Amino acid sequence: MQIELCTTEETCIKCEKKAVYTILINGKKYYSCEEHRPEINLRKRLESLGHIVYINGKDATVTVAGLLMLIHECGIKEINTEIIEHDRESKFCIVQATLKGARGVYTGYGDACPQSTNRMVQAHYIRVAESRAIARAARWYLGIGLTASNEIVTGE
Ligand SMILES: [Zn+2]
Repeated sequence: MQIELCTTEETCIKCEKKAVYTILINGKKYYSCEEHRPEINLRKRLESLGHIVYINGKDATVTVAGLLMLIHECGIKEINTEIIEHDRESKFCIVQATLKGARGVYTGYGDACPQSTNRMVQAHYIRVAESRAIARAARWYLGIGLTASNEIVTGE
């Protein structure tokens, strides 16, 4: 099953409301409103698409790519980010992300400094803070309890 945003004028198969989603099952298209969107096991889907990453072989985390895929499927319309705090000397940055879409408005914060960032991206701590903020807001938007993989520092 694949769920996409409905781009044509359709009616929900379960009620009279305008369809928000197009549901593809075995090549056939169905339509649903926000309320009648079919439940899917998110964890299973993320796992099958390679978006669940295990830290130290045990702690499951969700990739940012996986979260972005899901928010776009779930009617996201706007992603806004803003630097709330930035200390150039200690290279510490806090970013706020606000997501707006069919499910409402959700805010998340992300922070980063070279100490809390993997070596490969240490110089890009502002971008790390931004993607952490987006990941957190996306988790609230989607109702996903799993930590995002970019919130974890592996020391590599
Ligand atoms: Zn409906």
